[in-house]
This record gives sequence, structure tokens and C-alpha cells, in this order.
Amino acid sequence: MIYDTIIVGAGFAGAVLAERLASQNNQRVLIIEKRRHTGGNCYDCYDEHGVLIHRYGPHLFHTSNRDVFQYLSQFTDWHHYEHSVLAYIDGQKVPVPFNLNTLAALFPTRLVQSLEAKLIDRYGYGAKVPILTLREQDDPELKFLADFIYDKMFVNYTAKQWGCKPEEISPEVTARVPVHISRDNRYFQDSYQALPKQGYSRLFDNMLAHPNISVLLNTDYKDVLAIDVDQQTISAFGTPFKGQLIYTGLVDELFGYRFGELPYRSLQFQFEHFNEDFFQDATTVNYPNNHDFTRITEFKRASGQKVQGTTTLKEFPQNYDPRDSAKNIPYYPIFTDQNAALFQQYQELSTSFSALTLVGRLAEYRYYDMDDIVERALQVFADKFA
Ligand code: FAD
Ligand code: UDP
Repeated sequence: MIYDTIIVGAGFAGAVLAERLASQNNQRVLIIEKRRHTGGNCYDCYDEHGVLIHRYGPHLFHTSNRDVFQYLSQFTDWHHYEHSVLAYIDGQKVPVPFNLNTLAALFPTRLVQSLEAKLIDRYGYGAKVPILTLREQDDPELKFLADFIYDKMFVNYTAKQWGCKPEEISPEVTARVPVHISRDNRYFQDSYQALPKQGYSRLFDNMLAHPNISVLLNTDYKDVLAIDVDQQTISAFGTPFKGQLIYTGLVDELFGYRFGELPYRSLQFQFEHFNEDFFQDATTVNYPNNHDFTRITEFKRASGQKVQGTTTLKEFPQNYDPRDSAKNIPYYPIFTDQNAALFQQYQELSTSFSALTLVGRLAEYRYYDMDDIVERALQVFADKFA
């Protein structure tokens, strides 16, 4: 076998590790990817109208980690873009995360003044307060506001996205979109916010261009690798493989579901094209209470692409089902205590297998954003392979 390391999956987790191992350790790396392209869920492409779209849902890059931004800047120039989102609530499109401008748009002036003063007094200007925390305090006016935000912005959106109530999933999930005691309408406050100037797929092509890296597309690892977790052996293409295996796919699949199946949420995507310059007033509009989809994203508002017509994407959440081809992409791990405990069993089993490293959203059952997974992969390289 001519490869030192085999990597399953060509998303950010796999691509960063392949790039580091090839360029820093002069290793020969094989990536096995079951899709017909690299990039994982960050993959983008031009649709038949020439609009650059994100095939697996809108991907907005944001980070406060300078090292991550500098690392990726080796492989791309950037188009500066700060994401803004509106939510359709009570017949109006108002800023999300809920902030003081949202408050002013939805309530009469006297109530706004009183609520604003109380919020600033209690939490301080600039504070970010998770909705589940805001609901816990006892001032009747603030409690009224918290219940309003919970009911109008979170409860139905979360029911669509996760199939449960906000308090039934890890509080970290809804805390991603905290109530912001400020007039800053941006979705993220990170110091670096941008999209790869020529798209994510070009960024991945550049990352994987090293001559030591080979990529085998359209290949499920199960068709070419035999991994015996109990014997701790790996065979590749019918011959024993003595190198390292970095695995970024589903952890329960790798271990033959021996402790049970980990649940995921999937999505169905509906792309639509319009012969208009623009379709909506913001890149993303959330629909917490209306329709079966959660949000509509208009790509050219984010990419800044100059192109005739515009393409939008509606996201319809659904349960993941590996046996149904319309539902068999596991986009999101579901963050409950029970699922975390199940994942823990797989993780413990993996630690005894020294040639195996689990990295990534699926392999670690974590809600990694792109910058998180780049940071994580760089850390794994530094800790284990540098
Ligand atoms: P993935 O990108 O999922 O890559 C895993 C790869 O492994 C895939 O290509 C898969 O095909 C391959 N694979 C799986 N099983 C096998 C197998 N059996 N054989 C071979 N190959 C296999 N992050 C942000 O920072 N900003 C955003 O705006 C944002 N928006 C998102 C929107 C959506 C709808 C989703 C789902 C995610 C979003 N993310 C966003 C998160 C981002 O997609 C992840 O951080 C990133 O994709 C994680 O990279 P990864 O390599 O861990 O996983
Ligand atoms: N959320 C919500 N209403 C909104 C926006 C977000 O209820 O208008 C909740 C919902 O549970 C969602 C979570 O906050 O899954 C995190 O939102 P984010 O936009 O970060 O989700 P992602 O882009 O990762 O799908």
C-alpha cells in the first residue's frame, strides 16, 4: 500500500488533515469520499442559470479565530460579507437575532422604552442572553417579553428544525441565536466574516492540490476498506493497511451500530430561480410560524455575484432515515443527553484503536461550524501527527 494515511470524507475535517499531513509531514494521503465531489456539506456549484449556490444549505463563514482565518487564506481570497437575517413575525420582517431594533419594530413606543431600559439595566448594553435564560427571570414585563420571543421566534422554528421543544434539546442549540441587547443587526459578531471569493469548491480544490494527496470520489469506504474494530485491523483494497485511518463519517456506522443508531436530522432542499434581480430583502428570511420550511436564502445577496436572475433555497427539515433516499443525508446530530451518552459509548470504543482518529461533525457528533472544525482538525494534527 503506497499510502501512509487514509481519510474517509472530503469535508473540512478530512481536507484540512490531508493538507497538513501532505504538506507538513510529506505523507502520502488517500481520501475516500462517497459523493461525486469534495467539500462535504460546504460544496458549492453553479446552477443551470449560472448562479453560485450552496448545494447542501447556506454556508456563511465567520470566525474570531485569527489562526483559522489565516490558515484558510492560503487557499482562497475572500469576499467580505456580514450575514443578516430577518424573521417573518406578526406580518413583518424583523431582525434576528432578536435585538433592540426588533423590539422597536414589534411593540408600541412606551412599552419599548420600558422594556429596553429594563433589559439594559438587568443585563447591560451589548449582552447576549439565551432565550431559555431570559425566560427564567421573574420581572413580569421581562417575562412577558421572554415568552413573546419564545413563542413567536423559537418554539415553532425549533419544532420544525428538530422535531421537539427548545427545552428538549441541549440549551447550546438555541443559545446560538441569543437575544442581543444592542442595535447590531448582524447575525454574527465575529471579527472575520467572509465567503471564499471563488466559492468553497475552489477553496477545497486548492487545499487538496498537493501532489501527495489522492482523492477517490464516488466510493463508500465500506466498498474498499475492511475495518475490524475488535481485532484493530484495517485492510484496504484487499491488502492489510498498517497506516493511520482518519474517519470523518458516521461513527455509529463505523462500529456496525453495535450500541444502536444515533439519531440525526435531515433536510430536503427546494431551489427556485426567479427572473428578477432580487427576491427578498435579506440574504436569509426565517419563517418561524408559517410554512413547513424554516428559512429562505437568496445566494447572490451573500456572494455578491453579478448575474441575471436570482436563485433561492427553502429548507424543509425532516427525520434522517438511512433506508430512504430522500432522507438519507445526516445533516445535524441531535443534541440530547440520551444521544450524548450513546455517542460516548462509541467514542470510548474508538480510543482503544490507536490507528483510528475520529474527527468531524458526524464522527464526533458535534455541532461544529466551519471554523470550529478547521480549528479542531488543526488541533488534531498538532496533537497527534505533528
Ligand atoms: P462534512 O462536511 O459532512 O463531511 C463529511 C464527508 O464524509 C462528506 O463529504 C460525506 O459524504 C463523507 N462520508 C460520509 N460517510 C461516508 C462513507 N461511508 N464513505 C465515504 N465518505 C463518507 N457552518 C458554518 O460555519 N456556517 C454556516 O453558515 C453553516 N451552515 C450550515 C448549513 C447546513 C444546512 C448544515 C448542515 C451545516 C452548516 N454548517 C455551517 C456546518 C458545516 O457544514 C460543517 O461545519 C462542516 O461541513 C463540517 O465538516 P466535516 O468535514 O466534519 O463534515
Ligand atoms: N432558532 C429559532 N428561530 C430562529 C433562529 C434559530 O428557533 O429564527 C433556533 C433553532 O432551534 C435553531 C437554533 O436556534 O436550530 C440555531 O439556529 P442557527 O441559525 O444557528 O441554525 P443553523 O444555521 O445551524 O441551522
